[in-house]
Parts: sequence; C-alpha cells; structure tokens
Amino acid sequence: MQAEIIAIGSELTNGEKLDTNSQWLSTELAAVGISTHFHTTIADNLDEIVTQFRLSVQRSDLILITGGLGPTLDDLTRQTLAELTGTDLVLDKKSMEIIEAMFQKRSREMPERNRIQAMFPRGAEPIKNEHGTAPGIWMEVPRLDGKSICLIAAMPGVPSEMKPMFYQSVLPRVTRGTNMIRFARINCFGVGESQTEELLGDITSRGRDPEVGITAHEATITLRIKAMGSSVEECEQKIAETNILIQERLGEYIFGYEDEELEHVVMMLLSQKQQTLSTCECGTGGLLSYRLTEVNGSADWYTGGIISRLESVCEYLDPGTEHAAVEFNAAGAVLIAQATQKKYQTDFALAILLDPHQSWQDASQVPQAYVALANRESEWVDEIGLTVNRAIAKSRVTKAALNLLRRNLILK
Ligand code: AMP
Ligand code: MG
Repeated sequence: MQAEIIAIGSELTNGEKLDTNSQWLSTELAAVGISTHFHTTIADNLDEIVTQFRLSVQRSDLILITGGLGPTLDDLTRQTLAELTGTDLVLDKKSMEIIEAMFQKRSREMPERNRIQAMFPRGAEPIKNEHGTAPGIWMEVPRLDGKSICLIAAMPGVPSEMKPMFYQSVLPRVTRGTNMIRFARINCFGVGESQTEELLGDITSRGRDPEVGITAHEATITLRIKAMGSSVEECEQKIAETNILIQERLGEYIFGYEDEELEHVVMMLLSQKQQTLSTCECGTGGLLSYRLTEVNGSADWYTGGIISRLESVCEYLDPGTEHAAVEFNAAGAVLIAQATQKKYQTDFALAILLDPHQSWQDASQVPQAYVALANRESEWVDEIGLTVNRAIAKSRVTKAALNLLRRNLILK
C-alpha cells in the first residue's frame, strides 16, 4: 500500500505554522509497514486543493488529509472532497446531535456556522472526534482505471484531535490484512555501547526477529526493538519475550522504557518511598535541578538546592562560618553532599563537581567530575572521566548523579 499525506492550511504555506502532522503520520504509517511517497502542503484554496486531490487519488492507495475541517469560511476540505467526487454536501443527523450535545455540555450556544461540520460529501462516512467538534471524513474513491479504489481519511488539523482520531478510527481501517510492525525502546545507563553489544550477544545479530539495534546519546544507551507479525498481539508478544532476554543480560543498567528519562524514574522512586531530595551543583549551571523540575509533581519530593562555583559553595551551604575552599576531589564531593543533606534536611542529597577549568581537548586529566550522594547515615561517590565537550559533559555528569541515586533507591 502506497500512502501520501496532504496538509491543508494557509498558516502552513505562509510559514506561520510548521506542518508537524505529516511527519507524525508518516512515522505512524511506517510503524505498520505502509510507506509514504508524498507530502504536500496546500493553502486554503478550493481549486488548488481539488487539483491536488485529483492527482493524488490516481497515484496513491491511501491519502491522509489534515486541516481544513473547521467551521470557518477558510476551511474547505469537505467542499473539496465533494467537488472531487462530483457530489453535494448532505447533513448527517447523528453528527449534528453530537456537535450540539458538545456545545450544551460546555453551556454554550452552538453558532450556526458549526452546522457545516455535520455536512459530508454524499457517500462519505463521518469519523468520530472525541476531542473536538469537527468529525473526520472517510471516503473510498474509485480510480479512473475502473478497478481500484483510493482510501481517503480527512482529519482535523489540531494535532491533539488528529492523533487520537488516527489511532482510534483511521489506523484500524487501513491496516486490515497488512503486516504489522511494532517498535519498543529500552533505555539504559552506566554501560557503554560496545559493552552493551557484548552483553547482549546474539540478541543484536542481523536478521533476528525481533530486530534489536543500539543507539547512544549523551551516555544513555537505547535499545530499539522492531517486531513484525500478522497482528499487534503477535508483535507485542515477540517484544515481551525479547525484553525478558534483554533484562536477564543487562539487569540494573536498564532504567526505563520509551520516553522515560532518569529523572522520571528517580522521581517515581522517591515518591514511592516518600523520600526527599536536595542538590548542590558546581559546574553544571543547574542542569540537574532543571532535569528534576521537568518532572510533573517534582516539588513534592525535590526541595531544590544550590548552584554555585566550587570556590564559594561553602558560603551557601553553611553561611556565617569560615571555610577553607572545598577541594576538587571525591572527598570534596562527599563533603558537599553531606552538608547539603544537613542544610535542607532531606532524605538524600546529590552533589556534582564538574571541573570548570578543564580543557576538553586534554584527555589526560581524568577524572574531570565527581558525583556524590549522601543520606543521613552513608555516602557514595563516583569519579567520572569525561573527554567530550562541555555541553555533553554537563549532560553526562548530571545523568550519572541521577543514576547514582537510582541505583541506591532500587537496592532497598
Ligand atoms: P484546521 O483544522 O485547519 O482548522 O486547523 C486548526 C489548527 O490546527 C491550525 O490553526 C493549526 O494551528 C493546527 N494545524 C493545522 N494543520 C497542521 C499541521 N499540518 N501540523 C501542525 N498543526 C496543524
Ligand atoms: Mg485551517
């Protein structure tokens, strides 16, 4: 099956908005083994849209359209589809009732213009929209050869309405009888790319089903599993079996799945254990704190902390007393973690020391960073050798700190 995607809207062609729908849809189609051959973006112009539809129907088996289903005069997708098939627009009573009920639920009167959203080209089928007023449109249009048909799904432009509609109502129709493909990602930390490959052994061999690939990004290792089968269940079963094998071989290096980052996992563990965290960062510009506060609800368990250069960190940790500067070494990192824990009275404190004077070309001076963790009784410290640029070093050392805490939290 060959697909193409048409994004409609003058806001896309004049550069005000980026067409992200086409990229998203292509990725989703690829995941079920359907390749996309064309992306077209067109302004809100009736004749131009119809011309494009005529061309697309002859060359593609499936056309996914987004945009132009709104109630306003510039939204023309339904009219262009009627024009394409030489039909008129007819009212679909059921869609009308759903739209009216939606306005009632919001205690608003339905503007007359919204009636158009219940109108469909004769012979078309409405597609339910559970997240907005505009239903989608499903059509099966005969081709000029008289033998084949082209499937058309028109969906709203708003991504948060388009995506669920695609999953719930469009994808099941287009994948009937095709081979399915499913992807899964497993995220690991604390292990290098080549070591991962060694540990996984035959799991990463070419031609294996499911396929397992390894990618690395700022010290996070991601395993990408691709499973093929005749149903979603079969693919998921294959992924689950491979996942078990990977867990046996990589164990605690695995920290999460799909989009999960170390900060999400750490926050989830802290919340499960009802434990609190504070931080003190020298040399990372607050990246650790930034990452932690990216997590929803982080304020319940993360109290915040200190971002300082190493030379003056003691003034913040324990104001009023004279301090010698903390040294840049493992003991210094531990000292700061302990002082932070005391200052904030948290269950845990993480400290990072990243050498601000380090020349990143010079690989001889290792380690270049220390991360330390302290609770009320104990402390742990890791030395980190970094031979990369500063941005990557900051990212890596921050992840190393989060991983140190994660390892500790999963032990108990
Ligand atoms: P429409 O369905 O044409 O009324 O579009 C409604 C809104 O959805 C537009 O104002 C855009 O903000 C957004 N939108 C439309 N098409 C796209 C697209 N291809 N990619 C991303 N956003 C879009
Ligand atoms: Mg529009």
